[in-house]
Amino acid sequence: NRQIQLAARPHGAPVDSDFKLAESAIPKIKDGEVLLRTIYLSLDPYMRGRMSASESYAVPLEIGEPMLGGTVSRVEASQNNEFKVGEWVLSFAGWQDYVVSTGEGLTKLGDNPVKPSYALGIMGMPGFTAYMGLLDIGKPKAGDTLVVAAATGPVGSTVGQIGKIKGCHVVGVAGGAEKCQYAVDVLGFDACIDHKADDFAEQLAAACPKGIDIYFENVGGKVFDGVMPLLNTGARIPLCGLVSQYNLTEANAGPDRLSQLMGLILVKRITVRGFIIFDDYASEYPTFAKDMTTWLAQGKIKYREQLVDGLENAPQAFMGLLEGENFGKLVIRIGDD
Ligand code: NDP
Repeated sequence: NRQIQLAARPHGAPVDSDFKLAESAIPKIKDGEVLLRTIYLSLDPYMRGRMSASESYAVPLEIGEPMLGGTVSRVEASQNNEFKVGEWVLSFAGWQDYVVSTGEGLTKLGDNPVKPSYALGIMGMPGFTAYMGLLDIGKPKAGDTLVVAAATGPVGSTVGQIGKIKGCHVVGVAGGAEKCQYAVDVLGFDACIDHKADDFAEQLAAACPKGIDIYFENVGGKVFDGVMPLLNTGARIPLCGLVSQYNLTEANAGPDRLSQLMGLILVKRITVRGFIIFDDYASEYPTFAKDMTTWLAQGKIKYREQLVDGLENAPQAFMGLLEGENFGKLVIRIGDD
């Protein structure tokens, strides 16, 4: 059983030596247990937070523990009447080939799911995050201007496309011309601005002539700086993630602008609300799944995956995810189906 463990806590961006590939025998199961073989492993930005010791909404990993993560797995052996060999399940096996489970917390995906890896993306955690954050906190209305960064990732691409379904003027922010072109041509955004451009703030302002009503916050940093002066009275900010900050080792340079931000929130009566998807919205999952299944079938939502083969390539792919090297939902294919 190959396993990628947390070898050291990263200082800034993770490096190779923060991860360790360990091998051991395939675990044995007891009565009531199942042995799961990982087929797909989801890589997500939140994993960076778990590598650090600092306090968060979840307990950090210990050094030597396997890296955590959502997986799509198959039942390899079973001594549990609820699960039969060959069945597909959504699980949380982490970065490893095999894991033993009591069956608790597993979601059945059937004997022959059409797109099993979608359970880690558009039909799973990121898609659900986009749906709830936008609809419950962003409260989109036809004609609103919606801005979302990490626009071609699983969260941002879904936010923007649901925004279009709701009649918004959607402006994406992404890293590089290729991603921006994809956001407009394939995802149907009205515009997409490259955050690496020197005149990013000017381009963003030009793409939002009526200001910004909803800013779905995925990244923070320079993108938020460009957004701030454009926010309209009554704007809503679903605070989903701050990926540009995850590798920071010290505060951003420059003057403290907290009082300026608080003043803006006050005079413009802006709603900023953080959320952690399953902690806050677990009971809404069936509503999301119904809508998303319909939209996918109707072709109203497009979804892009980046599949990387091999557990051993997970650390490199994860380091790239935090730097924008992925193009679409990053999934590691670990085993043959
Ligand atoms: P993505 O696949 O979109 O990957 C992250 C992307 O962030 C990169 O591809 C890159 O895209 C962008 N990025 C990285 N650094 C910067 C930077 N300095 N400035 C601007 N953009 C940057 O990730 P997800 O769709 O999975 O997640 C998006 C966000 O949602 C994350 O912040 C994540 O933590 C959050 N999240 C929150 C949840 C919650 O419950 N609150 C649940 C799930 C996700 P590009 O090249 O386009 O810049």
